[in-house]
Amino acid sequence: MRMSKLFVQTLREFPNDAEAISHKLLVRAGYIKKLTSGIYSYLPLMQRVLAKISQIIREEMNAAGAQELLMPFVQPAEIWQKSGRWEVYGRELARFCDRHDNKMCLAPTHEEVITSVVSGTFTSYKQLPINLYQIQTKFRDEIRPRFGLLRGREFIMKDAYSFHTSQESLDEEYENMARAYKRIFERCGLETKMVQSDSGAIGGSVSHEFMVLTSTQTGENDVFYCENCDYSANSNHAVSILLNPQTNGADYGYDKEQKLDTPNVKTIEQLSEFLKVPSSCILKSVLYIADSKPVLVMIRGDKEVEETKLLNALGALEIRPATSDEAYDYLGCEVGYLSFLGVDENKVKIICDKSAQGMKNFVIGANEPHKHIVGYNFTKTPDFVDVSLVKEGELCPCCNKPLKVTRGIEVGNIFQLGTKYSKPMNATYTDENGEEKPFIMGCYGIGVTRTAAAAIERYHDDFGIIWPKEIAPYHVDVVPVNTEDSEQMGVALEIYNKLLNAGIEVVLDDRADRAGVKFKDSELIGFPYRITVGKTIKEGLVEFKCRKTGEVEKMTADEAIEKCKTLLLS
Ligand code: ATP
Ligand code: MG
Repeated sequence: MRMSKLFVQTLREFPNDAEAISHKLLVRAGYIKKLTSGIYSYLPLMQRVLAKISQIIREEMNAAGAQELLMPFVQPAEIWQKSGRWEVYGRELARFCDRHDNKMCLAPTHEEVITSVVSGTFTSYKQLPINLYQIQTKFRDEIRPRFGLLRGREFIMKDAYSFHTSQESLDEEYENMARAYKRIFERCGLETKMVQSDSGAIGGSVSHEFMVLTSTQTGENDVFYCENCDYSANSNHAVSILLNPQTNGADYGYDKEQKLDTPNVKTIEQLSEFLKVPSSCILKSVLYIADSKPVLVMIRGDKEVEETKLLNALGALEIRPATSDEAYDYLGCEVGYLSFLGVDENKVKIICDKSAQGMKNFVIGANEPHKHIVGYNFTKTPDFVDVSLVKEGELCPCCNKPLKVTRGIEVGNIFQLGTKYSKPMNATYTDENGEEKPFIMGCYGIGVTRTAAAAIERYHDDFGIIWPKEIAPYHVDVVPVNTEDSEQMGVALEIYNKLLNAGIEVVLDDRADRAGVKFKDSELIGFPYRITVGKTIKEGLVEFKCRKTGEVEKMTADEAIEKCKTLLLS
């Protein structure tokens, strides 16, 4: 490809609506162009990257025994009504009516379609297991489409679905997919960590996510992991052993239940200071609104609520913290002094976090303004549920060593669905005894566009993208410093043609621009290797530069070609 012909426009400045470095660089280096919020055109450079990632996925999925198909992007409401998700999917599902007033939607995922595809086609146990996958566009009307390709509204996903006659068979395929995923990301030049996760709207019980660990803030997930054993989990699923599971207010002089004036003492910090007790001796009350109903969460004062855990514990679709007006309306008291005391459980659901399990003689709000109660003990033992966020330093649930935390970008995940879709959709096979049984299913996703963006989050510097060579749009950028100089241009062309003939993906920067401009673009776009043909050609030498290490070497044109072959073809 000649740079003068390549459909690309690099920008001098970062776009001002971008926060994530991958988003900034993809726009500035001419990979994507925004059409509207969360929806982008993938320009030729991007398309090459996506094609490479897709090809790696294809090869590894095929090698793992899965078969590729392609399912419709536009789907009728009926199958979603049948699975029960039409009502529960929420506003991420883009719905519309066709000209005959049939309710339709744009595919956010394909469990319903694949279940209806397999159902009635493979009907005997003898035909199972089977694993089918596609690489396709999805649409999710994400509440916060941001970070460019990391969280788009329209994006490309590889989704696979497996069908089994037993849990053992599903377990085997789950392991098989986990191995395939590891290979896929390795081949994309990305190190990933497989972590336990919440199953979310897709459902099922066992699930793992593949995370690219990043130091950037853009990783939207916190991953807790143990350096001593294999334990690692997304924060929405992580559990820990508290450092001080038992706390007792009596240790601070509060051994009798007593209502105290605590004027204008509203926050846990203020209360802790005022009463001279650690926050772990205070039972905090936080009001949420879950599917328009109030839920009061009681949690130890030094812990925070993990909203996904709470959502799951409630079996709710949407939750948010209540406003102070709502708190007043439901509990009759201003925020700062709330608690479950005197609260009608028929009107307000009460959830007690596990962290409260070991608390004695603790402090709680009196549910009266400017008053708290000290030395309080539960009169009846609540059903404790885990809805709290793990903190770094708390102990590993497997081996009791301190947990660490890091940011991660979820590039893929695997789920055991069980019969979540086959049962309601009545998708069955006939077993050895002639009995009809629902398929046992698994599903396995990879964000193709997100993987590309995650690679940039992981590999970039101040000058631009540093693509792993496996997924770079082109491998080598050949730059004649002065295109007017026939000797330089002649050697550059010769290198270009020889590399092309060797099957190496190469760009010739034949633009009449200043060399500085061409070098800047080369670094910004992120070609793994650059061969510069400048004045030293008089001595028969060109410059070979590695984008990743920044290392520059002088060598003959033939040596440079040989070097490319060794680096890229072996
Ligand atoms: P997230 O928790 O990030 O919203 P998810 O759990 O909704 O992801 P899945 O429904 O399991 O994701 O989709 C499979 C894969 O598709 C994810 O692992 C991710 O790589 C990718 N993906 C999901 N949502 C988006 C999005 N809005 N933009 C880009 N990629 C996405
Ligand atoms: Mg999501």
